[in-house]
Amino acid sequence: MFENLTDRLERSFKILKGEGRITEINVAETLKEIRRALIDADVNYKVAKTFTDEVKQKALGANVLTAVKPGQMMTKIVRDELALLMGGTASDINLDGRPAVILIAGLQGSGKTTFSGKLANLLKSKRSRSVLLVAGDVYRPAAIEQLKILGQQVGVEVYTEEGNKNPVEIAENAIKYARGKNINTVIVDTAGRLAVDEAMMEEIAAVKRAVKPSETLFVVDAMTGQDAVNTAREFNERLDYDGVVLTKLDGDTRGGAAISIRSVVNKPLKFISSGEKMDALQVFHPERMADRILG
Ligand code: GDP
Repeated sequence: MFENLTDRLERSFKILKGEGRITEINVAETLKEIRRALIDADVNYKVAKTFTDEVKQKALGANVLTAVKPGQMMTKIVRDELALLMGGTASDINLDGRPAVILIAGLQGSGKTTFSGKLANLLKSKRSRSVLLVAGDVYRPAAIEQLKILGQQVGVEVYTEEGNKNPVEIAENAIKYARGKNINTVIVDTAGRLAVDEAMMEEIAAVKRAVKPSETLFVVDAMTGQDAVNTAREFNERLDYDGVVLTKLDGDTRGGAAISIRSVVNKPLKFISSGEKMDALQVFHPERMADRILG
């Protein structure tokens, strides 16, 4: 995903790895090239500008002009700043509550249902949780079917109420059901729309008010680039969610959303999904991602 960005950054550091004395002009050129590379990777302009301003401050503070290996020094500064930009350290999800309730929100097609299955799988296999998946997308029978199939694949029960069109009721009943069966984690999948609309937002907000989830996750398709960041902002204004899940990182994405979503929305990126298989889900680690970007 980051091939192009990695290449471009490497080339920009070469300006500092050449022979002779490093000048302020060399540093400025490097920073300009880093900024361009980020913008071409679909990082929002303002984020790229603030980022390179920050790198410049750090570079001057570290006396890059007189350093023995200015190229290496700059690489390290950029790596550390990228990790910070993406949130610094990994953020876990909150599983407080009996049961812990995790609410999943996002546009239709973003990968919500697939992610719900993957998260159930991860919590069950890696964290020994007992999980109930809840089909809250009451408008699309296909979505309910899809969740049932995923539940079967990962060995997790799926709660549905055929004919009930009230997602708040379904979620509340599912939680009661989980309590009765001693299931400690409930994942509620919700209905999305093709674009942000008030009715959808109100519906998800109503479910959130009713079930008071310990964790609300917003799912977004990385391939939508800067739109991903804009949608993340709109959902956050309305839902004040706890974390972001970026999907389809295996697809044709330049990676900008992964880099900039944290600083634009001020909510941590918690999971990245990179495939349709149930185990294609990873906890997001900013530092590992920064290493990957620098190649
Ligand atoms: P929902 O409408 O938000 O519930 O989205 P779905 O979970 O139904 O996903 C929409 C499509 O994207 C489906 O065809 C999924 O198989 C596919 N999909 C979901 N996550 C990923 C991913 O990480 N990578 C790829 N390549 N496809 C994905």
